Amino acid sequence: MTNVKVRFAPSPTGKLHVGNVRTALVNFLYARAAGGQFMLRIDDTDDERSTAAFERAIRADLSWLGLAWDCEDRQSSRLERYTQALQTLVASGRAYPCYETQDELGLKRKSQLMAGRPPVYDRSSLSLTAEQIAAYEAEGRRPHYRFRLQDVEVAWTDLVRGPASYHMSSLSDPVLLREDGRVIYTLASVVDDIDHGITTVLRGEDHVTNSAAQIQLFEALGATAPQMGHLALLSGADGEGLSKRLGSLSIEQLRDEGFEPLALCSLLAKIGTSDPIAAFGSLDDIIASFQISKFGRSTARFSPDELSQINARILQTFDYAAAKERLDAAGLGDIDEGFWAVVRGNISSVGEAGKWWNICTQPVTPLKEDAEVMAAAIELLPDGEINAESWGVLTKAISAQTGKKGRALFMPLRQAITGESAGPDMAALLPYIGRDRVLARLAGNQA
Ligand code: GLU
Repeated sequence: MTNVKVRFAPSPTGKLHVGNVRTALVNFLYARAAGGQFMLRIDDTDDERSTAAFERAIRADLSWLGLAWDCEDRQSSRLERYTQALQTLVASGRAYPCYETQDELGLKRKSQLMAGRPPVYDRSSLSLTAEQIAAYEAEGRRPHYRFRLQDVEVAWTDLVRGPASYHMSSLSDPVLLREDGRVIYTLASVVDDIDHGITTVLRGEDHVTNSAAQIQLFEALGATAPQMGHLALLSGADGEGLSKRLGSLSIEQLRDEGFEPLALCSLLAKIGTSDPIAAFGSLDDIIASFQISKFGRSTARFSPDELSQINARILQTFDYAAAKERLDAAGLGDIDEGFWAVVRGNISSVGEAGKWWNICTQPVTPLKEDAEVMAAAIELLPDGEINAESWGVLTKAISAQTGKKGRALFMPLRQAITGESAGPDMAALLPYIGRDRVLARLAGNQA
């Protein structure tokens, strides 16, 4: 085992969606490919919005995806450590108390913007006298604390973006502790990363600014910042920002819609990389092909259609034993081994097997177009129960009688017998539909 240690740090204030699962997956793959550790850290300092139910759902989603974590911790159990760290920073002059209210800060920002200046906090609390502070305290004001940034350019070699830098003069000193005593993520995350020995922080590019300030915070706390990598954000298939529907597509929803965890992992591991998108046979195969340097800076396109295609390819590889659990869970326990073999090549989710099962076992309204073919089919359907040979015998006989072949022969039959224009092999499907239904549908009746 190497000393590589990464973490996925969800806030249990909502369900996991494709965007944050991609971050979890990339961290997991990075750890596994390096023989390192993958940590789950629950960022639950926001006790108003964090819930045990969301946390359970996050764990269930990660487990379902196969992203097993090696160790875990939670921020709510480490509040004392954050207070200690803040005290260290105050003692060294890198953190300072501020007394502005939200309204006062809002007014300041407004007048800065009106004067054409960037709305950067002016550090006026740094020059408060002891009397002014005493007066605020007497009013009942409690301080919030800010981290004093050094006005320099912070540079790092980003694992995804390459050489990166950010000038601190465009940033406000970040708040570390709110007036109600709640620690802000900016500080908590750095203290955790130090204490947990995190070597590499991989997260979305929306954290770049955070990272720049946090690099100074690591150093102010006497630590060396971990390696940083910022993944390009996801966009919809059309190249637009991930639409509201896609962005909020929860993993739970995708699971309920019958998507395979491996389909999701296959796609999310490869979008935005120089590798082709593929349906992988296992997480181990994905790990073997993983390299963080393959991730690019341009937005990664997430397409539900592509997910369906990968899902279809993965289902095709499922034997009945693998499918059975999914079929049972989807309420499709009646589907037998033979039927699974017939439909698995034509479905993009397990639920769709149910559609074909219903077509065979429930009334269907035929699409009836070619009266000549229908009349011939009714006349020429071989006697007795339909078996695997019946379709071949029937279509040969109709062709001989009507002269029709190819699409002109097969399409009207398929449409009449299944009510659909495409689907699994008719020869294999026919025995499941049965003689009575086949005849009735050929006659144009719902059956
Ligand atoms: N809880 C933070 C988030 O969900 C974690 C960010 C990080 O990885 O540091 O955005």
